[in-house]
Amino acid sequence: MKTIAIIGGGAAGMMAAGFAASAPETAVTLFEQNPRTGAKLRITGKGRCNITNDTSPAQCMENVVSNPRFLFAAFHRFTPADTILFFEDRGLPLKTERGRRVFPQSDNAGDVVAVLTRHAEMANIDHRKVVDVDKTKEGFVLTLQDRSQRVFNCLLLATGGMSYPKTGSRGDGYGFAQKLGHTVISPKASLVPLYCKEKDCSRMTGLSLKNVTLTVADEKGKKPVYFERGEMLFTHVGISGPLVLSASALLRDKSLPKTVYIDLKPALTPEVINQRILKDFESNLNRDFTNSLSGLLPKAMIPVVVERSGISPRKKVNTITREERKTVCSLLKAFSLTVTGLGSLEEAIVTAGGIHVKEVNPRTMESRLVPGLYFAGEILDVDALTGGYNLQIAFSTGYLAAKAMTQKKEV
Ligand SMILES: Cc1cc2nc3c(=O)[nH]c(=O)nc-3n(C[C@H](O)[C@H](O)[C@H](O)COP(=O)(O)OP(=O)(O)OC[C@H]3O[C@@H](n4cnc5c(N)ncnc54)[C@H](O)[C@@H]3O)c2cc1C
Repeated sequence: MKTIAIIGGGAAGMMAAGFAASAPETAVTLFEQNPRTGAKLRITGKGRCNITNDTSPAQCMENVVSNPRFLFAAFHRFTPADTILFFEDRGLPLKTERGRRVFPQSDNAGDVVAVLTRHAEMANIDHRKVVDVDKTKEGFVLTLQDRSQRVFNCLLLATGGMSYPKTGSRGDGYGFAQKLGHTVISPKASLVPLYCKEKDCSRMTGLSLKNVTLTVADEKGKKPVYFERGEMLFTHVGISGPLVLSASALLRDKSLPKTVYIDLKPALTPEVINQRILKDFESNLNRDFTNSLSGLLPKAMIPVVVERSGISPRKKVNTITREERKTVCSLLKAFSLTVTGLGSLEEAIVTAGGIHVKEVNPRTMESRLVPGLYFAGEILDVDALTGGYNLQIAFSTGYLAAKAMTQKKEV
């Protein structure tokens, strides 16, 4: 009987535990320090859990920021279609939303955790913290919080990254891996809110913009660092929301400050906007400028745009010049903000950095340095943009590690 230990009852660990335990001649123990499995999963997608993205493995790789090639085998062996089938076969109906993002129909991340926990329960789940890991000639020796020790033939580290530490992901796995000889690429925050210089943001706190584009300019004349259409919101210190989180992943190694531009009307050309403004003005020529923009802008943005335009809010619309209209158009097409900082690791959706992928076999997730040691999920130096790709990484690498651990002959 082969004995397998998995540390971490998150997305990757639970996926691996069920598949490993369903193989013959294996005894699998999943160690999860929290009283319940899937603490982080429960808060994913604002409690709705964006399980995956209904796309091809190649598209998944395009949305991976660090080391996409490393995930080639994992994404092809356990694809987004396999993830969808996995949950639907186990009685969880799914739906696909804008951007091919897949959610449970119930909009409840707890239902995703329930399916994965039932799957993982094919293994023995031990709710104790692992405090130390060693490799001896007997195998992998795990020391638990009560100082008792257990020995296993194989070990899978699926302890996650370091973000949202209250969920239990505090980077323990990095220490275990380093002790066993692995290199850890310094953990960094990714998918974080952005801090902006302008006080305008706090005036619009909570305002959510749908169907806008966000452009991050690098050097003048060069291709933008980031350009995407979607949703974002203003916070008291800057901006956040799916578009902004993804942009932050591409900004993390850039020097700041950087200017970002929001196109509030991506479907309209400046000429069409000008016509719209004229039409709105003509409907009531004696209206004050500040009262004439409600057809074009959300309420909370009007005072900010009026102020930035330099036009007096009380100016009658019939006296507004063509040049002044042009200024308003420019503000709607390119509302600029200056990014001065990125959110911290505590508030990061994912951790960039982690186990150096050169030291891991991408076809099996087995360590190239320590036979019998495996990795899966966010602990690895891989991270993706928003859209369900990070959970797909956890599921694909967890599946691959489970298959490799159970098929491996010599231990
Ligand atoms: C707010 C938020 C929203 C997100 N939304 C999405 C989304 O909608 N879609 C998406 O694709 N991704 C999302 N993510 C990212 C995604 O949740 C993670 O990438 C994914 O959960 C990583 O899975 P994992 O199994 O590698 O690690 P984790 O889920 O972090 O699990 C690791 C587990 O290991 C346990 N553990 C750690 N050390 C020990 C130890 N020493 N002993 C025992 N147990 C230990 C921890 O308690 C934890 O339960 C979100 C993340 C956050 C923070």
